[in-house]
Amino acid sequence: MAYQAEYIWIDGTKPLALLRSKTRIIADGKKPAIWGFDGSSTNQATGSNSDCVLNPVFTCPDPLRGPKDILVMCEVLNVDMTPHPSNTRARCVQLATKYASFEPWFGIEQEYTLLQDGRPYGWPESGFPEPQGPYYCGVGGSKMPGREIVEAHTLACMRAGLAIEGTNAEVMMAQWEFQIGVLGAVEVGDQLWTARWLLNRISEEFGVDASLAAKPIKGDWNGAGAHTNFSTKQMRANGGWDAIIAGCEAIGTRVMEHIEVYGVGTDERLTGAHETAHWSKFSYGTSDRGASIRIPWAVAVDKKGWLEDRRPNANMDPYAVAAIMVETVCGAASAKKAPAKVAAKKAPAKKAVAKKAPAKKAAAKKAARR
Ligand code: ADP
Ligand code: MN
Ligand code: MN
Ligand code: MN
Repeated sequence: MAYQAEYIWIDGTKPLALLRSKTRIIADGKKPAIWGFDGSSTNQATGSNSDCVLNPVFTCPDPLRGPKDILVMCEVLNVDMTPHPSNTRARCVQLATKYASFEPWFGIEQEYTLLQDGRPYGWPESGFPEPQGPYYCGVGGSKMPGREIVEAHTLACMRAGLAIEGTNAEVMMAQWEFQIGVLGAVEVGDQLWTARWLLNRISEEFGVDASLAAKPIKGDWNGAGAHTNFSTKQMRANGGWDAIIAGCEAIGTRVMEHIEVYGVGTDERLTGAHETAHWSKFSYGTSDRGASIRIPWAVAVDKKGWLEDRRPNANMDPYAVAAIMVETVCGAASAKKAPAKVAAKKAPAKKAVAKKAPAKKAAAKKAARR
């Protein structure tokens, strides 16, 4: 019998793209081929020249349909098969290829807020629930609305074979998180977008919306982020600490370029309160949830591992974030390596160590303060 393939793509809506999908029935034994859509209805083309191309890039079992049915994550191409301007994946592929020798890995923590009739799911019709405190990883009664949706989504991701790692309730009532990783720069985007599609699709069944707004409720309520955990082969190797610090320092030289691709709502979310660093002030530190980049405690102990950029908003595009992360960190590491070769006589290794030392001290000082 024929099977159903749900073709999913990212549209051209600004400032935040929407997910779109449509179903294709495919004959038994056939693979999902290139397909097309009307770009004039998705902010991707004009009516007079409306055709856009869907190019399958990632497929997995469709956990919501029959056993033979599949999800097909696509990139959008122009009819001449070049990447469409809305296609941020293409650039991510370029950078991942260029810096493949660094073996970049990503784990992304996707926070989101369940909304119903414009209010957080389970919140009282007027006024507010009890202040924040009991909800993060909480349990019990009317305190934890949305758990049934989280459970359904988790199971769906697992059945689809996505690299979902865990879930937790977040600090604000009706805010939740799941993590995807660790995966390569392109793969983490493919799977996170697929997991977001599943979340939206499952939310339909419950009559709610899963919002990726960075600051859904103003005031003393946490925003929603997409902490991006990142490592290279050098960071993961024994003695990777120096590479981690060098990564933090490199990111610190391109603060605004990074902020620009970290999603919408930065100024509302990255205020310096609610476990964030102010967007304009770059910092990094061990265990510091008030820093832009946190080096997890276990990483500081092992002197190897990864870094966590806490600034990306929940609505960020993982292709764009992974691309700039790889470009900045691996680019800086390559640049450092290259002149060292030329000036080999001048003991570059020593010089590099001396340069890194103050950064190390700064991180240690921060950790001591907490
Ligand atoms: P927390 O909430 O304390 O910040 P989480 O458990 O939610 O931590 O998320 C930790 C993330 O770190 C996971 O997504 C995981 O994949 C990621 N991670 C772990 N090791 C690495 C690594 N070597 N490189 C990149 N990411 C990593
Ligand atoms: Mn987390
Ligand atoms: Mn979180
Ligand atoms: Mn985190």
